[in-house]
Amino acid sequence: MKGILIAGLILISLGSLVGCSQAEPERATIFAMDTVMTLTIYGDEASAARQRAAQEIHRLEELFSVTLADSDIARINQSAGESVTVEPETAAILAETVAIWRETGGAFSPALHPVLQAWGFTTGAYQIPDADDLTALLAHTNPADIMLDGTQVTVPAGMELDLGAVVKGYAGDVLAALMVEMGIETAIFSLGGDVYAVGERPGGGPWRVAIRDPFGDGDIGVVGVRDQIVSTSGSYERYFIGPDGVAYHHILDPATGRPAESGLVSVTVIASNGTRGDAISTALFVMGLAEGAIFAAQRADIEVIFVTEAGELHVTEGLKDRFTPGDGRKISWI
Ligand code: AMP
Ligand code: MG
Repeated sequence: MKGILIAGLILISLGSLVGCSQAEPERATIFAMDTVMTLTIYGDEASAARQRAAQEIHRLEELFSVTLADSDIARINQSAGESVTVEPETAAILAETVAIWRETGGAFSPALHPVLQAWGFTTGAYQIPDADDLTALLAHTNPADIMLDGTQVTVPAGMELDLGAVVKGYAGDVLAALMVEMGIETAIFSLGGDVYAVGERPGGGPWRVAIRDPFGDGDIGVVGVRDQIVSTSGSYERYFIGPDGVAYHHILDPATGRPAESGLVSVTVIASNGTRGDAISTALFVMGLAEGAIFAAQRADIEVIFVTEAGELHVTEGLKDRFTPGDGRKISWI
């Protein structure tokens, strides 16, 4: 009798020990892709998974960075019209970004690097470019001119790529696949404006991701997600005030080369495919509410939260039982 009791007690304490180790996640804070990322990973393999995840982020940065001179993208940008051999992964993401450029009617463009440079968004040395300079730069930004042949990439002289609007979402996809490979069921990655949630939160139920209020420090509401990205593009994320007192933000309309004036201050896309979610949030910001709402309605794989300059929230109906707005906030369901 005594033996059984003791065995029972040991089992209980073992059980709580196991419970305890699962409740404490492994965390990492990483500076990469020009932003601060935090990784939070639960489970027995969390420590190993955290290390692999950090390696993956740095590997992707070394492939896609515009500033690291040896990256695939930097080598394309320096190629002066010659063909460049890249990693298969780079060729694949380029093909995907060209497809999304077509799908979004040009609102997303992977070829804006010289224009972003002209505004100083790549360096922080901000300035308002001359209209003539912008016109000249825009002549080399047609993504239809990106030639892909296996792992050979050729762009015309003068064209330079920038994948800043899609790499964080792509990183979310890569990390999510890594978690599956390593048997991790519960993790959440904050990738600077984008959050990728793996599985459900500890204890069960969807992860609850707060969406930042573009007008203040709080949030506009909370969305429940599982194995999905919550990707936000906002004019508040990077901007400068010109000598004319006007705020110039970092999301450019590829048609004009100037900050998109679409009447929106932020767009959040919820999607299973992080790459698409990230690229499309940027594109919808450029399109604006009217065109963006039609684009979203035609696609089953994205849900969207638009915030207008007037502070209105327009949310796709698919989020009706998953989006909880902050106190007193009204929603127009679209
Ligand atoms: P995101 O924060 O994902 O919306 O990406 C914004 C970043 O993407 C900017 O800082 C630029 O580097 C780049 N970018 C700006 N406008 C566009 C655009 N229309 N299409 C693609 N990339 C853009
Ligand atoms: Mg984006």
